[in-house]
Amino acid sequence: MTAIIVVTAFIAGWVLWTFAEYVLHRFAMHELDGKGIMSREHLEHHVHSGWSFDVTHLMSWAGMLLVGAVAWAPLGWVIAGPAFGVTLAIGWAFGYFFYEYQHMAAHLRGPRNRYETFVRKHHFHHHFGHPKSNHGVSIALWDRVFGTFERPDSVRVPRRLALPWLVDESGKIKDEFSADYTLVGSARADERTAALDRARAFASLAPVD
Ligand SMILES: [Zn+2]
Ligand SMILES: [Zn+2]
Repeated sequence: MTAIIVVTAFIAGWVLWTFAEYVLHRFAMHELDGKGIMSREHLEHHVHSGWSFDVTHLMSWAGMLLVGAVAWAPLGWVIAGPAFGVTLAIGWAFGYFFYEYQHMAAHLRGPRNRYETFVRKHHFHHHFGHPKSNHGVSIALWDRVFGTFERPDSVRVPRRLALPWLVDESGKIKDEFSADYTLVGSARADERTAALDRARAFASLAPVD
């Protein structure tokens, strides 16, 4: 009995996180156009489409753990007892850190399996093709539910914003990714493209070629 409660609570907590991942990304980050720290930090991430550690990550990690501890654990406890409450919060935290890891890895290294191949195509179409689609990162479930799922044959990537793992030393797309990604525009970034990238990222528009 306890095993069923624990497994159910863990899955429920994880699903709860994936819903939050979608809602926060779509409404608290993109719809707010840079108002508030969460939206600003995220749209800043869209400007360069890179990933590097920042102290604001610690705030997010602490904040999400706190939500699990002060919201989901007590709520689950009231609904179905202490084991359910605690495991619900653990499933939530697991889902969050799984998402954090997958998002970071997508930006920093190439895919190692079919799931990671999917995560990258899904997320980089969000970055470079249509920032108002594909709000889920670790899972596409809620994009399908809410009609924001898009799956292009090939993801367009501006050369100046190309992911480090996507191209070789000469800046050409690696053979293994040529079916899924197309490089567009010039590799040269100047003041004009920098200003445009910033303005368009903060308006949730795709970067120009
Ligand atoms: Zn990203
Ligand atoms: Zn985004």
